[in-house]
Amino acid sequence: MKSPKLLVIAGPTAVGKGTVARRILETNSDIVLSVSATTRQPRKGEVDGESYFFLSDAEFDRLIESGQMLEFAVVHGTHRYGTPRQPVLAAIEAGKNVLLEIDIQGASQVKEQMPEAITVFIAPPSWEELVRRLEGRGTEDSVEMERRLATARIELQAQGQFDHVVINDDVAKCAQSVVELLSA
Ligand code: 5GP
Repeated sequence: MKSPKLLVIAGPTAVGKGTVARRILETNSDIVLSVSATTRQPRKGEVDGESYFFLSDAEFDRLIESGQMLEFAVVHGTHRYGTPRQPVLAAIEAGKNVLLEIDIQGASQVKEQMPEAITVFIAPPSWEELVRRLEGRGTEDSVEMERRLATARIELQAQGQFDHVVINDDVAKCAQSVVELLSA
């Protein structure tokens, strides 16, 4: 049996990493998603313990202080997001590959703590396409949009820190390329 791996995908805002992650999970029963913790409020339809563990600031602090966070970061300058360590280790112990879909700062913390993790930067086909995808979402107002674009510009420069870069020009193809890295 192949040894289970920790697979970390990150990338700029609106690159479609959530969609790639969903596709990976739908087509690979041996890969499980790590459910992150966050201090942001649930959006409509999000379920506590499935979408995220929705925590208060105090609860989030407690997880950090007791060493239970594998990584955490402030994302988009607002709320904190983090990966609880224990479920990741338990899944790997149980023989599952674990997928983390987190931000870039978090990905580098995971790599520091678990150098055996495979980190993958999901890149857009071009800057113009990234802007188009962000505008197409229509969920952000123009101030928030400018802020996300500024963040994306910086985030794109981080790709050199990752083990691999995979371009998301087609979700199925991108997901497949990421999965193949597990057996490379
Ligand atoms: P959203 O609020 O839209 O669900 O997520 C915002 C961002 O938080 C996404 O870009 C996602 O990659 C990042 N994120 C989600 N979970 C985690 C986590 O556990 N750790 C870190 N560092 N970032 C996360």
